[in-house]
Amino acid sequence: MAKILIVGAGFAGHFGAMTLADQLKRKGLAKQHEITVINRGPNFNYIPSLIWVGIGQMAPQKMQFDLAKVYKKLGIKFHVGKVFEIHPDEQYALMETDSDKKIKLDYDYLMMATGPLLNFPATPGLGPDNGGFTNSVCTPPHAVHAAENYLKLVDKLEKGEAADVIIGTGHGTCTCQGAALEYLFNVHNDLKKRGLRDLVNLTWLSNEPALGDMGISGVEVQTGNGIMDSAEFVQGLFEGYKINWQIRSHVNKIEADTVHYETVEGDLNSKHFDFAMLLPPFKGQPISYIAADGSDITSTVCNPAGFVKVDAVYGKAYADLDGPDWPKTYQSSQYKNIYSAGIAFAPPGPLSKPSTSPNGTVIAPAPPRTGYTSELCGHAAALNIVDMIEGKSPSHSGSMAETPGLCVASMNKSAVTGNAMVIGLFPMARNRAKYPGYGRDLKASMIDIGLSGSWFKLFLHYAFMHKLQARPFWRMIP
Ligand SMILES: Cc1cc2nc3c(=O)[nH]c(=O)nc-3n(C[C@H](O)[C@H](O)[C@H](O)COP(=O)(O)OP(=O)(O)OC[C@H]3O[C@@H](n4cnc5c(N)ncnc54)[C@H](O)[C@@H]3O)c2cc1C
Repeated sequence: MAKILIVGAGFAGHFGAMTLADQLKRKGLAKQHEITVINRGPNFNYIPSLIWVGIGQMAPQKMQFDLAKVYKKLGIKFHVGKVFEIHPDEQYALMETDSDKKIKLDYDYLMMATGPLLNFPATPGLGPDNGGFTNSVCTPPHAVHAAENYLKLVDKLEKGEAADVIIGTGHGTCTCQGAALEYLFNVHNDLKKRGLRDLVNLTWLSNEPALGDMGISGVEVQTGNGIMDSAEFVQGLFEGYKINWQIRSHVNKIEADTVHYETVEGDLNSKHFDFAMLLPPFKGQPISYIAADGSDITSTVCNPAGFVKVDAVYGKAYADLDGPDWPKTYQSSQYKNIYSAGIAFAPPGPLSKPSTSPNGTVIAPAPPRTGYTSELCGHAAALNIVDMIEGKSPSHSGSMAETPGLCVASMNKSAVTGNAMVIGLFPMARNRAKYPGYGRDLKASMIDIGLSGSWFKLFLHYAFMHKLQARPFWRMIP
């Protein structure tokens, strides 16, 4: 019997666990093998809908469900707790529960899918935890807190007071610009609906090298008149919506009502805010890898940021990095029975052009691994574990340079007057070896905006919540 342990039940780990259970059942192997999931909390969080929670348009319960119920249905064991140590030579993990109980869990195969540690301390004053001054929409409690502060801002505006609002990234190495952009557009539209938009000086502050870059070096699409890129598209929207922008910037410090930032040219500037939502940079979860002799081998298993090194080609300069360098199987480079999927795996490098200011400050968006991408990695890793259980070599690829990217950025959550920007691209990571020139198949890329996008975003919320709860016909939802 093989024991498969999955750490983390986000898009990658949870879908990976569902895939494993399903595949083993289809092959008549379910009774012979044991799948166990460990997650820090009891719930799955559908993170893309947090931007709606963050302006008070959705209750957090609507984007969560109880994982235990789903795992019971699928025959998966489940523990709520935090894994803090992996012993890869002896094949066990150590976790602790909220009541400080330590549990040892043996495994034959391990999938690390622990997502990001939100690294707020990287920028002094970046909040909302530890007395920080800015808001975040990265977790349900953060988004609820952001909504409370946003509604306080609305109260102020309703009294006729003007305000400065800043939305974007809180460090030069942040990722997930798409999520922050979505929040920006939702705030813009919500204020407009309330008749308060004219009172707000709204600014986009980000580390992107260009508008619409989103950490993926933007998107180009073919139009009747030639090629349009996401920079032109987003600039057009910002001008139309009277949104100011400050890009190519690293936030170095935040005070009660002031954000201090450095530009790529090395200029040091400050900006006042009444309300700010700035995403934190990410790093790997604090999990130690311990060898049989007791030595700490975390730095061999993980990259310096704490993400697990997999079957990628590491160490290339940005200019030399191409599609084939991105991981395919998500198998650890050190231990063949360990996989890592979603944000937890170490990418081979950035997708966006990195820069360094004359002061030596790195302004380099980290590559996003969106919910869909994370699911695809988790799916591939799960199928590869099944391959190994059957005595085969891992044969499934979920490479970001071979799979599509999809970003549906809600701008206004309404089924009647709503609006969303839909960006589709193939593949997510540019692959010039396969698509010379742009590195992407422009015929498969699209940028569109409109009410249908808003329906699509709502549809995705309900379709994913349905699928991820293993409700009837869940396998039919891609
Ligand atoms: C505000 C926001 C909006 C977004 N919008 C979109 C969107 O519209 N579309 C899209 O595709 N993507 C979106 N994303 C990105 C998407 O949410 C992430 O790509 C996705 O959540 C990554 O999945 P994951 O499984 O790698 O990590 P996570 O979803 O973070 O899951 C990791 C899990 O591991 C658990 N864990 C962590 N450490 C441990 C430990 N030590 N022991 C046990 N468990 C642990 C965590 O509790 C968590 O449940 C958004 C992100 C944000 C922040």
